[in-house]
Amino acid sequence: MKRVLRCVRCKKEYQLNKQGYTCECGGLLEVKIKERADLTHLKNTWRNRRLSNKAIDQSGVWRYKEFVFDFNEEEIVTFPEGNTNLYELPENLLDVRKLFAKHEGENPTGSFKDRGMTVGISFAKKLGYKTVMCASTGNTSSSMAAYASRAGLKSIVFIPEGKIAYGKLSQTLAYGAKTIQIKGDFDDAMKAARNIAQDYKIYLLNSINPIRLEGQKTIVLQLLDQLNWEVPDWIVLPGGNLGNTSAFGKVLKELKEFGFIEKAPCLAVIQAENANPFYRAFKTSFKEFAPVKAETVATAIRIGNPVNYEKALKSIQFTHGVVEEVSDREILLSKMEIDSLGIGCEPASAASLAGAKKLREKGIIKQEDTVVLILTGNILKDPDTTINFHLGNIQGIPESLLNAPTLIKNRQDDIRKEIERILEEV
Ligand SMILES: *Cc1c(COP(=O)(O)O)cnc(C)c1O
Ligand SMILES: [Zn+2]
Repeated sequence: MKRVLRCVRCKKEYQLNKQGYTCECGGLLEVKIKERADLTHLKNTWRNRRLSNKAIDQSGVWRYKEFVFDFNEEEIVTFPEGNTNLYELPENLLDVRKLFAKHEGENPTGSFKDRGMTVGISFAKKLGYKTVMCASTGNTSSSMAAYASRAGLKSIVFIPEGKIAYGKLSQTLAYGAKTIQIKGDFDDAMKAARNIAQDYKIYLLNSINPIRLEGQKTIVLQLLDQLNWEVPDWIVLPGGNLGNTSAFGKVLKELKEFGFIEKAPCLAVIQAENANPFYRAFKTSFKEFAPVKAETVATAIRIGNPVNYEKALKSIQFTHGVVEEVSDREILLSKMEIDSLGIGCEPASAASLAGAKKLREKGIIKQEDTVVLILTGNILKDPDTTINFHLGNIQGIPESLLNAPTLIKNRQDDIRKEIERILEEV
């Protein structure tokens, strides 16, 4: 299908291979599908592709390629990614009709970033780039490093000083990205990367890149596929740079235009209390927007100046969605609940449950609603936070919730006594 880049502000159109990531008016660009085809038969095509052993059919991104890009098989760099489970959770966790969690932490490098990266890296290769770059709090860099290695491209990463979870840093280094730590936070690193990518012939793979976001749309496509196209009332997701928020709104709009769904689910975007510029803007009905200095234990959303603001607000407006904020304590308590189900996630992902709880308490999410939480990253991304929680190193967490190891002498009597204590516990 024919596609162009289009400015979300002034609607000016550009070729897909345009250099740079914004319009001459300063607006963000998005991919516009130009043909208006009847795509409803695709629901079956997508199902049938699951029977195929081809990597591009096995990929939970490229299986939906009609909504992503019509690349040839040999142009695609895939692991394959994107076949993430949709778990039914106990409804009493939120007191709603049905509660699901879609676990994007089950992607090859442990976060949803892989869905965008397979598209971004394939496109970079097609355009003849030799080097790719990103600024990252850790998951984008892990993903980019892995896909760049698979594609034989050089990768350069800007990360903020400190505050990068060890799972993510270790992946980035191990997969071979040249890693530059900037004295500053993510927003400083982002600015540096944008400047450099413009001056050298380097392909920038942050979510400002509209090609990457086309891949992230498949979270929603696959989620609806898994629900047999029964549209939930809410999709709840954490918001940092707001790439997912933008991609989700975009695909829901397309699905409605193409006649796949009649009504879009409401998006609920959750931010950390001290990294909440989108929440603040929402509170002014998007009349005002001001960057903040971001701080939170959920490092993946420790972002004060989200580059996709302009697109994300359209997603909220189109879906009649909401933006909520939660404290670090609420994030960690929700993470503990998700972890203890045997599912687990990194801190930023748990913001979705924490925010859903708050919206449920306020009556915005209702008892009769079906709710899908997006768990964005794997529990192993940030082991330090999990361990500090259970060792009681985080203030304000009740001791009854901790699960610290017990240290005992290596003596039969002591071991038996401890086992008996555990067996008697309720
Ligand atoms: C990137 C990331 C986010 C934030 O997503 P945005 O699209 O930037 O809003 C949230 N959680 C995890 C685990 C991430 O890796
Ligand atoms: Zn423009």
